[in-house]
Amino acid sequence: MLDVRRIYVEPEAAALPRGQQVLARWPDAELVEVASHWDIPELHGDEANVDRWVRIKTEALVLGVKKSLTARPNGRSSDFIAPSTANGCAMACAYCYVPRRKGYSNPITVFANIDRITGYLARHVARQGSKPEPNQCDPQAWVYDIGENSDCSVDATVSDNVRDLVDLFRGLPTAKASFATKHVNRDLLGWDPQGRTRIRFSLMPDRVSRLVDVRTDRVAERIAAIDDFVEAGYEVHLNLSPVIVHDGWLEDWAELLEQVADGTSARTKAQLAAEVIMLTHNEALHDVNLRWHPKAEQVLWRPELQQGKRSQTGGWNVRYRTGAKGRYVAQLTDLLTERLPSCRVRYAF
Ligand code: SF4
Repeated sequence: MLDVRRIYVEPEAAALPRGQQVLARWPDAELVEVASHWDIPELHGDEANVDRWVRIKTEALVLGVKKSLTARPNGRSSDFIAPSTANGCAMACAYCYVPRRKGYSNPITVFANIDRITGYLARHVARQGSKPEPNQCDPQAWVYDIGENSDCSVDATVSDNVRDLVDLFRGLPTAKASFATKHVNRDLLGWDPQGRTRIRFSLMPDRVSRLVDVRTDRVAERIAAIDDFVEAGYEVHLNLSPVIVHDGWLEDWAELLEQVADGTSARTKAQLAAEVIMLTHNEALHDVNLRWHPKAEQVLWRPELQQGKRSQTGGWNVRYRTGAKGRYVAQLTDLLTERLPSCRVRYAF
């Protein structure tokens, strides 16, 4: 997936041990010094790059320093969003919200100040004490999403940042790391997480995934990996997202859930849980996608099923219409209960 030819690097990041490790991994890459990973117009200006995204995602890497460290309260899939150790992604799902902040080509930026990030997280976890009562994130542990702005399974091919986080949480009995992924990185199987990292494999019916999941591993491959990750000491949940409504969508989901039921062990099923997230989309992303992947927009942009809302930043976001959306969620969660009865739904919206 990566064939790094050029690394855009902040000098402060290059001087850190993690920065040096990344630079040593691609010794022949051209180095381009940048003042800030936020401001690299030749990478992030979507207008100019729309035809070159995949090449940029494959060949460019950014090495920076994470300046502000905060763990934001979340409450849906996790209790907190941990400070990112990377942002951007080498994959290119048509519905992905990750590129919105940095422009659409959005190759991986890896943050080299991992020691500051893990130190911050350890102190944040310590300050919380024990979780006072179960919630939808977890019955006992404070859950920290470590992959809000990237895919950690791919990030782990770039640097040891994700491994350092798995190592950190192994020693934190009151907390858990968690990330969603569409890539199967079997290197992670040797990391001995001892149940303190939750991997959420993202799944949707293969027919639609082939249209909208670009450069990801195939859904069947993700399902086939679930038992291996459970055996390796991970908690594995399902991230059923985004749920896209199209003709025959429930039949496709029934087939997918059958595949999970048939392809996972009793041990896996006993620890399984799922989050269900209906598609939201965005007009700016829709306009960009029309220029490179109009077929995806035939299932993502459905004005007859969707309603819009102005976002705080002034963008126009759409989601399935009130009432209908509730029905879709109920239909899918009922199906889940029928086909995968041991899999509890952590949340659905
Ligand atoms: S794998 Fe995740 S982060 Fe990467 S493009 Fe797809 S949705 Fe975005």
